Amino acid sequence: MLRNSTILHIGIDDTDSPKGMCTTFLSYKIVKFLENQNIEFIDYPSLIRFNPNIPWKTRGNGAVHLTIKTKNPKKIKNKITRFVANYSDTKNGANPGLVFYQNESIPESFHKFSNLALWKLISRKKAKQFVSENEIDSFYLGNGQGLVGAIGAIGYKFTDHTFELLSYRKKSQIGKKRIINKDSVRNMQSATFPDTFNSYDNESNRVLITPHGPDPVFYGIRGETAKSVITASTMVSANEKLDGYMVFRSNQGTGDHLKNELRIDDLEPFTSGFLVGQVCNKPVTEKGGHVFFSVETKGKRIKCGVYKPTKITKVAQNLIVGDKIRIGGGIRKASKHHGRVVNVEFLDVLELAKNILLTNPTCKKCNKKMKSKGNRQGFECIKCGSKLLSKSNLEIPRKLESKLYLPTVSAHRHLTRPYQRIRKRNRIATFDTSLPWIHVF
Ligand SMILES: [Zn+2]
Repeated sequence: MLRNSTILHIGIDDTDSPKGMCTTFLSYKIVKFLENQNIEFIDYPSLIRFNPNIPWKTRGNGAVHLTIKTKNPKKIKNKITRFVANYSDTKNGANPGLVFYQNESIPESFHKFSNLALWKLISRKKAKQFVSENEIDSFYLGNGQGLVGAIGAIGYKFTDHTFELLSYRKKSQIGKKRIINKDSVRNMQSATFPDTFNSYDNESNRVLITPHGPDPVFYGIRGETAKSVITASTMVSANEKLDGYMVFRSNQGTGDHLKNELRIDDLEPFTSGFLVGQVCNKPVTEKGGHVFFSVETKGKRIKCGVYKPTKITKVAQNLIVGDKIRIGGGIRKASKHHGRVVNVEFLDVLELAKNILLTNPTCKKCNKKMKSKGNRQGFECIKCGSKLLSKSNLEIPRKLESKLYLPTVSAHRHLTRPYQRIRKRNRIATFDTSLPWIHVF
């Protein structure tokens, strides 16, 4: 234990660009540095994903929170600031933000800010305001957009969590094609699922743990416990020598951004959430195989889009007017060609309407379909001459079930709550320092 020490929270965001760097990798570098300082780690590093439906996110809109105990916060803060200044990919458009908070407990204002960043679009102006009003120790480069995630990461309160082990490449390998043994990933998944998840797509035979960009991540293994992702990583074989790995506690797989109900009369572009309503028109399949339909709730309508890669367009096509559904997703901004659309990320069928087809009645005596005698003239059996006035109802069986439909795993976002986690909530695991949560090979 460190005497006369204080707890220091560190929030980092937006150090990467589409061309390079990765906030988790910079955090790994910082943790490697901190390991050689006279400090104590208080918790796993956290990787918090925020609203994925904002326009300027780099890849997954993830920010990192580190919690340490130190006797010399000033020195540590200076060092970390230098790391962020030196390694952020600002020349390719990164707008890094770094926030320090020196106290064990985190004020409610941070939690509130974090909660909003999960589903809304928060301007950098708001973040700068927050920092100055609360006299928070912070640093930013570029336009300072990264302050949003840096504050949000510190303020994030876990109610459920998962883990991700991210492994990093050596400098000389960054940018080269990642070669991983496909079978090892498939075997790892079948041996460890559901303690790990979304590693391999059995349907399309695709490895899901390796990113495709020029960032330093080699692979990321998601799972329920720190132990499960560490064990799983030993089962995966890569074709290159890796630099090391770090395990993050994360809100991935928790559906965090879709928890709040959207207000139909206030559907701001780029917000995320869910809506409950009734299907109010026949779904239309448009060019590219995307399916659109509208939902009515509280007397107002909104268009919803289910996209081809989700592989649940068939489900959307089979909806009929009157079906009661709950949909989650993000609001796409209106453009010249279309109004606002909810980009559907889950479709929960709550109640199926009856699919009734009106047909000519059948003659009870002859068991034959009657013939129409003309508009509003009723029906007549051509065999025996019996008459009936109205058509009869025929109920067509539905091709849908009332249940939850999720996109196929390869179309999942980081935050998508997968089927096997629908009812699962992990109690916040204590920080187990006996586990190799950071490791340099
Ligand atoms: Zn008849």
